[in-house]
Amino acid sequence: MNNEYLTQLRKIKSVSMATVDHHGIPQVRIIDVMLVEGNNLYFCTSRGKAFYKQLIENKWVSILGMTENYQTIRFTGKPVHLRDHIKWINKIFEHNPVMNDVYPGESRYILEPFCLSEGTIEYFDLSTSPITRKEMILGNVELVKNGFKITETCKACGICFKKCPQQCIEAGTPYHIVQEHCLHCGLCKEVCPVKAIRNR
Ligand code: SF4
Ligand code: SF4
Repeated sequence: MNNEYLTQLRKIKSVSMATVDHHGIPQVRIIDVMLVEGNNLYFCTSRGKAFYKQLIENKWVSILGMTENYQTIRFTGKPVHLRDHIKWINKIFEHNPVMNDVYPGESRYILEPFCLSEGTIEYFDLSTSPITRKEMILGNVELVKNGFKITETCKACGICFKKCPQQCIEAGTPYHIVQEHCLHCGLCKEVCPVKAIRNR
């Protein structure tokens, strides 16, 4: 069964994909998600493009797509350059016949296939109230946690609870952030009088 978030990225199809160039400068462009199978997302690019060079040299990519209902899905990881390139390019063209208009005949083999199957997926939905955020990992990678947590030094004054724009802080000892609804805005950290709120 295909991963639900990757399936949504395939449905969106044209997503933004960011890399970093050899100067350390971010570069972003629109790329088509060509195929999704299980936890594998496939895309391709031609060997002459700066994008290809960045994929080979720096490895990391971050994909971001938005559904028609304003839900965003980000997939960050290191894609694998697939070795059997003729087989994979033929398969990609089979699933995306429109590619024949751009790369007719044998010219398709200037393209190189890549597969992204390990990394972090972040799902963010601004249309719900409160907002919805989910994180998951694919493969053998560590989840990089963003956002904030309330530590044991909390004095239970309730200031963060009152200021939080999403009302996603629960009272307790210590107070607690419901991560699934947190904007990561940082307001709670700024207003805490005893600096009990830290980055995760
Ligand atoms: S503002 Fe700081 S001390 Fe007060 S409840 Fe929040 S975390 Fe605890
Ligand atoms: S980061 Fe913002 S949304 Fe999240 S708990 Fe703190 S104030 Fe609320």
